[in-house]
Amino acid sequence: MRVRVGVNGYGTIGRRVAWAVSLQDDMELVGVVKTRPDYAARQAMASGIRVYVPTQKELSAFEAAGLEAAGTLEDLLGKVDIIVDATPDGVGASYAPVYSKAGIKAIFQGGEEPNVAEVSFNAMCNYDEAQNRRSARVVSCNTTGLLRGICSLNERLGVRSVRAFLVRRGADMHEVRRGPINSIVLSPPTVPSHHGPDVKTVLPWLDIVTSAVTVPTTLMHVHYVNMRLRSRATREDVLEALRSSRRILVVSTKYTGATSTAHLIDAARWHRPRGDIPELVVFEESIHVEGDEVIYTQAVHQESIVVPENVDAIRALTGLASKERSIEVTDSSLGLGSLPGLF
Ligand code: NAD
Repeated sequence: MRVRVGVNGYGTIGRRVAWAVSLQDDMELVGVVKTRPDYAARQAMASGIRVYVPTQKELSAFEAAGLEAAGTLEDLLGKVDIIVDATPDGVGASYAPVYSKAGIKAIFQGGEEPNVAEVSFNAMCNYDEAQNRRSARVVSCNTTGLLRGICSLNERLGVRSVRAFLVRRGADMHEVRRGPINSIVLSPPTVPSHHGPDVKTVLPWLDIVTSAVTVPTTLMHVHYVNMRLRSRATREDVLEALRSSRRILVVSTKYTGATSTAHLIDAARWHRPRGDIPELVVFEESIHVEGDEVIYTQAVHQESIVVPENVDAIRALTGLASKERSIEVTDSSLGLGSLPGLF
């Protein structure tokens, strides 16, 4: 039996999650909810996706634009087993009671407060905690990136504490009104930033402090990570742990010439739909180990890193598969794990 999935909110994340769900043999994408009859709605319809609107109110705007919506969110909720909410920050929380009333399971995104769902989720770190729950919150792109590296090293070498500095992208490509255009903005001006506490929603035992700035780029975030392990390790140990971990690409700047986020995305454009890189990228030559201290620099493709996590969260909540099986199926369906030229 295939799990019937709906996606509410069809922007940066929702569009990608809908696409990823449509590639899974054990899932059926029943439809997506779109607020406006714009190019993304037209593209969805052109590719055979049934497009719903939030309420009756938006139906007339679709009609006026010559588009026929399949119905309202309420109609969609009556046809699915689970909804992936990918609406803007804070909007998901206002929908939580609606999903609950409809008696379906729900996945929220990292822009919501942790208490929106029963559990905050990262497939590699706490898949089993989400098994058969009613709701989960897939943590944000920055948090997902931090967690991939931390859980990979913790599983193999044991992590004691983390200090990380985050360089955040200013906007996604379609967000034409966001910035900064010509500044490096402390975001937030205080330390710690919210990212450390967000990591702790998944790993409550971890000693972690983060700080962040936002810069004028749309491509990726970059993190400088400084970690203390539970015991001494060698650079080879750390390299091996990261290399053998799923959803992490260790990219050698020496052998690829890729020394920037622009190089990564440029390379991905030739081999990946939309140029997405859902894996965490760790720059190999940035890995430095002294005793129990590990330093590395990583890049996070904010538009896609949470996409495989959403697919796994669907399997965890609905009890479709074990952690290992789900990650394997998701990664193979999305073509993760190799990126010719880089890894
Ligand atoms: P987005 O603005 O690109 O997309 C949100 C979509 O929801 C838009 O199409 C918007 O029209 C629609 N929408 C607005 N109000 C709605 C409503 N009431 N009902 C239904 N749809 C509505 O946002 P996004 O970047 O995809 O972010 C979605 C969530 O994912 C947020 O929680 C965000 O924090 C999180 N997230 C974003 C990123 C990222 O880098 N973009 C990464 C990880 C997680």
